[in-house]
Formats: sequence, C-alpha cells, structure tokens
Amino acid sequence: MTFTLGDIDIELTQKEIKNIHLSVMPPDGHVRIAAPLNLSAETIRLYAISKLSWIKKQQKKIRSQQRESNRLFINKETHYYQGRKYMLKIVPTTGVPKIILNKSTIVMHISENSTPEKRQEVMNEWYRAQLKNIVEKMISVWESKIGVTAIAWRIRSMKTKWGSCNTDHKSILLNLELAKKPLHCIEYIIVHELIHLIERRHNDRFISLLDHYLPNWRHYKEELNKLPVSHPGWEY
Ligand SMILES: [Zn+2]
Repeated sequence: MTFTLGDIDIELTQKEIKNIHLSVMPPDGHVRIAAPLNLSAETIRLYAISKLSWIKKQQKKIRSQQRESNRLFINKETHYYQGRKYMLKIVPTTGVPKIILNKSTIVMHISENSTPEKRQEVMNEWYRAQLKNIVEKMISVWESKIGVTAIAWRIRSMKTKWGSCNTDHKSILLNLELAKKPLHCIEYIIVHELIHLIERRHNDRFISLLDHYLPNWRHYKEELNKLPVSHPGWEY
C-alpha cells in the first residue's frame, strides 16, 4: 500500500520483521518503509513524520547524484579532479584524443563528432592514468609506514565502494572515482585498505590503527561521502 506525507508518496510493506526500515531509493528518491506486522498505520505515519527532514535530505542528495553522473562532455561543463572543480573545454582535433589540464580547465582534444560515450571513455582513461601515478607513490610510502605489502592493486569503476581489500590475496581494489577526490581522501582509502592487511574487520583494533596512522581519517571519510559523488550508497 501507499500513503502520502505532504508531497511525498511512501510505499509501505508490512511483514514478519522486528524493526521498521526506511529507505530512499535511487534514481528518483522514492520512499519505502518496511514495518513489522503489529505496527499500526498511525505509528508508522508518526515514524515517517519524525524522519521527514532526513527523507528530504536523502532525496536531494540522490537527485544531485543523478545529475552528476549524467554528463554530456560538452564545453563549459563542470568536472572534478583531485577535489577541485574544472571547466571542460573541447578542442576539435582529427588526431589522437588527449587531455591537458590547465589552471581551471580540463582541455579535451577530440573529434568534433565524437559521442558523449567516447568522450567519457577518453576522460576515464585520463583519470585512470592520473590516479595510477598518485596511488603508486602513496601506496609505497604507506606500505613502509604501516609495515605491510600489498601484492597487487588495481583501479576499477565500482558502484558502491571506494576501495576493497582481499586479505587472502593481499590485493587492493581502488575506485576510479577517487581521481575526482582530494589527495587526502585517496590517502585515507589507501591507508584504510592497507590496514585491512593487519586487521580484516572494522573492529576496535582496526579503528585504533586508523587513529594511529591517520588521526583525521573521520574528516576524510565524511568528505568522501559528501557531494558531489557519482553514485549513491557508498560503503567500504
Ligand atoms: Zn574496510
């Protein structure tokens, strides 16, 4: 069933569960509530009202994330690199596509007739090369600081993770999206994943290691999950 709070439609399912769950779903920000069978409609309604500002905040976030990911790669569009905003400039060329970073612009030399998909591909290749350079240096610095070695690391486009660590294979995956983030945020993810080589779980030991090596990590984590990001629901 569906009920309405102001201009918000809420899809309600009641089932055999213990707790009430509220979710705001991408891509349009529709709201779902799953509630235990024994809760009255009135209680559920009051619960939803108490969460109204949270719901609106999430909806706003999801909608701006949608905007961020639907890039056209045209002149004057905003793109991010290392946490800074750049304006995209398209320079038509018949040669091999390339990207040059200026003070406040990312200049993409590419065929005038290229599709947004092709331009995105060129941009991602450039992001990947830049990120690879950064990560290469940071990883070796942090490996010796922490006293661990990652046998392999790779950069990949991922929907829901900034990074991950396979502790059995001692290998680390880093999200290509990190190229858009400030260096200290990239560093936080690298340190986080390297610490997993010592402690697999996010327990007290893990937290105290993070506190020791990167006392400001909570700020970096918060910054990473702030707008603008390209995909909803980050975890790591
Ligand atoms: Zn982790």
